[in-house]
Formats: sequence, structure tokens, C-alpha cells
Amino acid sequence: MKLLKNKNVLIVGVANKHSIASGIASCMSSHGANLAFTYQNERFKDKVTALAKGWNSNICLPCDVTSDKEIDQVFSELKNTWQGIDCIVHAVGFAPSEELDGNFIDVTTREGYKIAHDISAYSFVALAKAGRISMKGRNGSLITLSYLGSQKTLPNYNVMGLAKASLEASVRFLAVSMGKEGHRVNAISAGPIKTLAASGVKNFRRMLSYNATRSPLGRNISTEEVGNAATFLASDLASGITGETLYVDAGFNITAMGTLEEEPS
Ligand code: NAD
Repeated sequence: MKLLKNKNVLIVGVANKHSIASGIASCMSSHGANLAFTYQNERFKDKVTALAKGWNSNICLPCDVTSDKEIDQVFSELKNTWQGIDCIVHAVGFAPSEELDGNFIDVTTREGYKIAHDISAYSFVALAKAGRISMKGRNGSLITLSYLGSQKTLPNYNVMGLAKASLEASVRFLAVSMGKEGHRVNAISAGPIKTLAASGVKNFRRMLSYNATRSPLGRNISTEEVGNAATFLASDLASGITGETLYVDAGFNITAMGTLEEEPS
């Protein structure tokens, strides 16, 4: 069954084939969605354009999410091709690497805090504001990507945890704000996956092994598994779900202690 037949989906956040957004694009494409992509800047243009072709899309537009002008341009360009938009996927996150290496109180700065929240949290609201008119009358779905660092502490994730908490609160406020228009807003909280953004967090490999040994499923998750969940949330099967954060993390978030198998007896 093609869950997204005739649905127009804008995907923001593909950097390369390892991106979570790429896993989402693959699954949505196989479910019949028409896809459009943005790339952060010229550095990513060729790679994202080539990947887009593989998902039968020739719509690839520049968009640095810190610029309202570039965000607006994306939606006005899309009007030339699509009558409207059914889903916006926001898979964007960034904090300066110095903020993600060391003791929170020592490394967090006003500037780093501002950048992390602007790019990782406000940009979702900015996309919702700019995309609202294009979704009018189409029962749109907005999806963003979060991480457990929004709820619990862990080493080095630091200001990104605060930005993800803000992002998840934005999901709830947007869900109420846009609900009467028929639009749904949800987050997927993914377990750790080796990507470009993840490599900015000091000792990320330790996060991967910690998650794999302590999660109920005893492994990490793949971008394809996030893609499956995003496809569900974008589809009419999820028509009653909004304001939620759905964990796709092999169950890691529900445990307080794991299985003890990894501990010395
Ligand atoms: P990624 O590096 O592949 O994707 C991050 C994307 O953000 C890139 O495409 C990058 O170009 C884009 N970006 C950064 N600054 C931008 C800006 N100013 N304007 C436009 N785009 C910008 O890494 P990823 O892990 O796929 O990250 C996608 C999302 O998933 C992020 O929100 C990340 O926090 C979240 N996430 C990642 C993990 C993980 O372990 N990889 C886990 C949970 C959540």
C-alpha cells in the first residue's frame, strides 16, 4: 500500500546519504510521495541534487534556515510546481562544536546558546509560519527530529539538549496553534545514528555503544526505521495524532537501568 500517493513533501535537512532526512526521503519516495529538497549552502548543492534525482525529484532549492528570506523563497518557488504542500520535514540541527565538548557550565556561551536555538528550534517554527499558506485546506503534517537530550542529561550534548527541549515545546504549541486548520505537528525522537551532525558531539561513538547495549532491543536504530515512522506520521493513518514526540530509539528512553548483562557481576 502506498501511504503517501499524491502527497507533496518538502524535506529540509539532507546533507548526504547518511542523513536521517535521506532515510525519510527513501521511505516517503517508495510510498509514492512527490519530494522537494533544500540544501544549506553551495557546499551541499551537488550532493543533494544528485540524491534528489535518485528519489525522482528535480526540485532542489537553497535554504539556510537562519534566513527568513531564503525560507520564503523556497515556498514561493514551490508554488511554481506544486498546487500545495502536504508535509514539511524538518531535520536540521546545529550548535558550535565547542559547545558540545565538556562540562555544560564551562562551555556554554550566550552566542552558542543563541545559535543552537535559532537553527535547531526556531527554524521549525519559521518553516511552519512560511509553509502555512501552502498547506491550507490540505490537512498538512509537520515533522521534526528530536533527541532524548531534551528530557535527560548526557555528557557533551549540552546546549543541544536545551534546544531540543525548546523544539519539542514548539511541537506542542504549533500543534494547538495549527490544529483548527487541520494541520498536525509531531516530533520523532531518534536514537543515536552516525551522521555528520552527530559527529559534532564529543565521544558520540560512546553514545552509540551505550545505547546499543542498554536499549530493550539490544541494538541501535537505522535511518530507514526513522523513515518508516516519519512516513506513518505524514500519512492519513496518523490523522488523529498531533503534538506528540514519538521515540524511535530501540526503546532506550523507557529504561532506568538496562539489562545488567553489560555490567560486571
Ligand atoms: P545531518 O548532518 O545529516 O543533518 C543535519 C542537517 O542540518 C544537514 O543537512 C545540515 O545541512 C542542516 N543544517 C545545519 N545548519 C543549517 C542551516 N543554518 N540551514 C539549513 N540547514 C542547516 O545529521 P542528522 O543526524 O541526520 O540530523 C538531522 C536531525 O536529526 C537533527 O535535528 C539532529 O539533531 C536530529 N537527530 C539526530 C540524531 C543522531 O544521532 N544522528 C539523533 C536524534 C536526532
